[in-house]
Amino acid sequence: MGIKKKDVLLAGSLLLAACLLFFVLRPKGDGGQIRITVDGKLYGTYALSGEEKIRIEQESGVNVIHIRDGAVWMEEADCPDGYCIRQGKMERRGQAIICLPHKLVVEVIGQEENENGEALDVVVQ
Ligand SMILES: [Zn+2]
Repeated sequence: MGIKKKDVLLAGSLLLAACLLFFVLRPKGDGGQIRITVDGKLYGTYALSGEEKIRIEQESGVNVIHIRDGAVWMEEADCPDGYCIRQGKMERRGQAIICLPHKLVVEVIGQEENENGEALDVVVQ
């Protein structure tokens, strides 16, 4: 017996619901940081605490990343799909916002790389 399309859809939506529940129930981030990668190169690392807007302009377009209250999201983007904006807020380690058309990745990473706290405000240009 083959797998029916309906079964796949059902399994898919169950999986999605489980994922949502998982994310909702997980504890909040522990004041980590984000790492922005553009076209495979490190653009910068930013603390998730505090508030910051990062505007990244490339030939392919513009992205505005907003950090506030321990969360990060794509506030503006002129990419054709707008998918990065629809990905919403990220605040837990391992989560990422990806803008494929602009080859831009925003990852939430842990704090351990800056245990002494010195590098939290360092911006690599
Ligand atoms: Zn995008």
